[in-house]
Amino acid sequence: MTTLVHAALTFRRTVRASYGFVAAGVVTLLLLLGLFRGPLESLQLEHGLVALGWLAIFGARLAARARRGADAAKWLDLELGFLLLVAAHGVVQVAGGLQSELYPIVYVTVALLASFARQPIGIALVGVAALLEAAVYFFCESHGDDLRPLLLHLAFIVCFGVMSLLFTRAEIARVRERSRRELEGDRAKIQQESRMFRLVSAPSADGASDEERLIRSSLEEVRHQVYHVLQLLHRTLDLHTCVLLMREEASDRMRIVELISDSEHIAEGPFDAGEGAVGAVYKRQLPMNLQNLKPGYKGLCYYEGPALVRAFLGVPVVEAGAVRGVLCADRVDDRPFTEREEAVLEASIAQILRAMENERIFMQLEHTKREQTILHRASQRLGAALDEEAVIEAGLEAARDVAPFDFAAVTFYSPKDRKHRLRKAIGHAADVFEGLTFRDNTSLTAMAVKNRHYLPYRGLFDARQQVVFTKRMNLRGMKSLLILPLIVREDAIGTLVLAAHRPGAFGDAVRPTLQVLANQLAVSLANAKAVKRLEEMATTDGLTGCLNKRAFLEELDNKLRSAQRFGRKLSLIVTDIDHFKSVNDTYGHATGDVVIKELGAILRRVKRETDIVARFGGEEFCVLCEETDTEGAVLLAERVREELGNSVFQSELGKLSVTASLGVATYPDHANDSAQLFEASDKALYAAKHGGRNQVRTA
Ligand code: GH3
Ligand code: MG
Ligand code: MG
Repeated sequence: MTTLVHAALTFRRTVRASYGFVAAGVVTLLLLLGLFRGPLESLQLEHGLVALGWLAIFGARLAARARRGADAAKWLDLELGFLLLVAAHGVVQVAGGLQSELYPIVYVTVALLASFARQPIGIALVGVAALLEAAVYFFCESHGDDLRPLLLHLAFIVCFGVMSLLFTRAEIARVRERSRRELEGDRAKIQQESRMFRLVSAPSADGASDEERLIRSSLEEVRHQVYHVLQLLHRTLDLHTCVLLMREEASDRMRIVELISDSEHIAEGPFDAGEGAVGAVYKRQLPMNLQNLKPGYKGLCYYEGPALVRAFLGVPVVEAGAVRGVLCADRVDDRPFTEREEAVLEASIAQILRAMENERIFMQLEHTKREQTILHRASQRLGAALDEEAVIEAGLEAARDVAPFDFAAVTFYSPKDRKHRLRKAIGHAADVFEGLTFRDNTSLTAMAVKNRHYLPYRGLFDARQQVVFTKRMNLRGMKSLLILPLIVREDAIGTLVLAAHRPGAFGDAVRPTLQVLANQLAVSLANAKAVKRLEEMATTDGLTGCLNKRAFLEELDNKLRSAQRFGRKLSLIVTDIDHFKSVNDTYGHATGDVVIKELGAILRRVKRETDIVARFGGEEFCVLCEETDTEGAVLLAERVREELGNSVFQSELGKLSVTASLGVATYPDHANDSAQLFEASDKALYAAKHGGRNQVRTA
């Protein structure tokens, strides 16, 4: 019965999720029954109803496709394609069957579907079209045994399908490639210009988008100002051309930054920085005022072919002692440029430089603001993290905010055994590295710890030449790398390692921020460690390293509760060294301490993984054995007794050895709660003492 209900529910859900298929199936059935067969005049109400129903369902499915992402739309595409195909066949049938004049709409539909559905769906739909065609052919049209019309149609369907699949896709790929290239070109132009104006940093290849927006708006602002200045000069000085050229970074070429001209023969550039009159101004860093130029003068690089101008004035753009470009003005008439006009050009240059400087400062401020926000958030996160794991996670997350990475790790260095341990790794192939330990080798990580300085200096990585952790386990496929030492009070306790596939990911723009972050991380890690140590101190006994009484009582309560819940046994062994007062009296307190320590060590050595050992006070210890009956606990107790008895201790007064008495009690055999369990094992211990000591007794 339940399986029936289950099946019915599943059926309902499936139908609901893809009722388009059901509708298309129904229309197919009607098609095969010949419901839409003409002539046109005989169209009836039911045809109209089918058409309306089809429209409603098609519309609903189309809307569903728009709502869902393209990834979830695979089945919907199939559904919509199927619906379109049956509709095409319906129309064809109304128009008179497969041989009618409207038949080509089937081809059009197939071509459409093959072009726009994704490849596997497109292929499937071409198959559906072929099947539908064959079914209609066999059910609704009788041509005797002549299969030729069908085969012809099928051949065309496949042909249209394949052609669309191939050609449209190739076209789409071409368009994508073109727009990708345009985008890259645009980026490259911005990078170049922002360097030309010496704005702080250029957008990175895969764009920290805030940064890119900032640079775009700054560039826009500078361009606007330059345009404004040139236009003013052009108008007031009655110029033919007014142009600002600036040198490209790291090359000997100049580019037109902005130009206002009446000429139609402007060269695009870039130009050789030593070329003609402009080059002379650039090289000599002095203004140049040329008059009475011969018609056809060729010394002005920004004209294509000989210039018509008769007077030229070029003034160098000098910023902080370095020449960065030339502002040029020329005139067609032979009025020479006056000194006053030269002064105007110089003032204009000052204004342009001020605009650049303003944008630079603005960007720096924005940059600082962003940095501060990130660091503030990071320190809040780090402060809120309580244990080491949480601190590391917060640190890595913050690092990602500063500079997106593909791999990140935190390593710890232990000066005691001179080993580095990879504490946590995330990102690309992280699981391969997690838990890796390596000696103090010549790897970049070890060097960063040793020198307490970040590595590598330029943030670039080449796996063939540099080793991050070990030669055998090196990072692969990364172009950027940054290893920051985690420094706590002069000492490097480890490193923060960041790596990225793209080059230049950890350049000067982000490294200082990352270093501050690494320092915060280091301090938080040290704090987490200190907290952990405090917690340990609160729960362990300083002399023996065993649990202390308070922690043991807590554990006892927990274990007893779970023993009660699962109906398991729980045994308690209490030990007390025999005649310990006389050991202290004879050999001194220090020797007594050594004996107590040794008993603790023996207990921890012989106990099983799940047993808990505590020093209960003085020379008394307890062992709590989970899932252990009295017999098992006695075996353990006997081993302890023997090992202690066989131990020989050295003292200033010669060798000595001691014995111990032990009492064993078991829940639920001898007690129902923890107090009773203690009482029972204490009584057993008392009995052992009275029975002559150096023995084990049970409750
Ligand atoms: P018994 O065989 O009946 O147990 O005799 P005992 O002398 O061992 O008697 P008891 O267990 O009552 O003695 C405990 C002594 O252990 C008292 C104290 O001098 C000594 N003691 C307690 N704590 C420490 C410690 O931390 N270090 C040292 N050296 N001695 C301790
Ligand atoms: Mg005692
Ligand atoms: Mg004792």
